[in-house]
Amino acid sequence: MTRPIRARIDLAALRRNYLVARRQASGAKKVFAVVKANAYGHGLSRVAAALADLAGGFALIELDGAVQLRQMGLTQPILLLEGFYAPSEIPDFITHRLIPAIHSPRQVEWLLASPWPAELPVVLKCDSGMNRLGLTAAELAAAHAALTARVRTIVAMTHFADADGPRGIAWQLVRFRAATANLAFAAVSLANSATVLRHPEAHGDWVRAGIMVYGGSPFYPEISATALGLAPVMTLEAGILAVRELSAGETVGYGCAFVAEQPMRIGIVACGYADGYPRHAPSGTPVLVDGRRSRLIGRVSMDKLSVDLTGLPMAGVGSTVTLWGRHGDRVLSADEAAAAAGTISYELFCALSARVPVVEEG
Ligand SMILES: *Cc1c(COP(=O)(O)O)cnc(C)c1O
Repeated sequence: MTRPIRARIDLAALRRNYLVARRQASGAKKVFAVVKANAYGHGLSRVAAALADLAGGFALIELDGAVQLRQMGLTQPILLLEGFYAPSEIPDFITHRLIPAIHSPRQVEWLLASPWPAELPVVLKCDSGMNRLGLTAAELAAAHAALTARVRTIVAMTHFADADGPRGIAWQLVRFRAATANLAFAAVSLANSATVLRHPEAHGDWVRAGIMVYGGSPFYPEISATALGLAPVMTLEAGILAVRELSAGETVGYGCAFVAEQPMRIGIVACGYADGYPRHAPSGTPVLVDGRRSRLIGRVSMDKLSVDLTGLPMAGVGSTVTLWGRHGDRVLSADEAAAAAGTISYELFCALSARVPVVEEG
């Protein structure tokens, strides 16, 4: 038998979640599915194929991934969120009709020096306060002036820093509107998942929905994915390889980090940080054992972790431990597991390791 660990990817849930984004942003012209980082760890070609007949577009960072989408025969707009990194990449953009998000004046120069076809759209990314990538208001105006003569469709884009948080988006929207007020754009692209779900005034024309498509809530713990109508897409599950009965005072795993305060029964699970489970998850992080809630015990090692089986007498070697996702009708959201480990579901999904076999369902 092979090592008992797998990731299940529920493609029906993926499609339903995408439709939630589309319904929420019903005023938008296109809802792009964000598929960067191997579709947030879910598998780029798998996710793109499952959304092929639904998605209004795909957005990602990786040029090779974008080319792969074209080679699959997808015809939707494909948006490269950081544009091109060197002029040498521009021919691929032209050949495969990839839309660059241009964030720097030098990218504008490279484009102007290339045989860019007038009908291939260009997105100008404006930095409205994230202070990461993007053109200043003056750079935006200059880029717009330089490109109008060369490119038929120019789209304005910005990215919100706190759409899921207390500061909100209004302050950035004011800056974005000021920067774009006197310029003609064919469309604007503003909204990530949190904006789709919380700020209908800023949906814009081209929505960029990421985490919600994968069933994560941008607002956990205030609002769960279930409350948003989103279902888990990825389940990470592994089998119990061995059971230990501990007497009080025995410790578990590296660093003897966990000490049994009373006699207890634990299961050793075929999942570790080399599979993508976070090493920093502390004792107490929730798991499901055959669908029943339990907890992580001791330090996560490279290939194994331990769970508490005290109070679960039916569980033993061969039982299934769900690290996140779904077991039958029981759900342990990646948001909850991530929060217990001090991170976010995005990171858990992206960290899924290549050694974990993936099973598609739905
Ligand atoms: C990743 C990304 C998104 C998607 O964000 P979610 O929070 O996953 O919806 C949208 N826009 C840009 C520019 C991004 O980099």
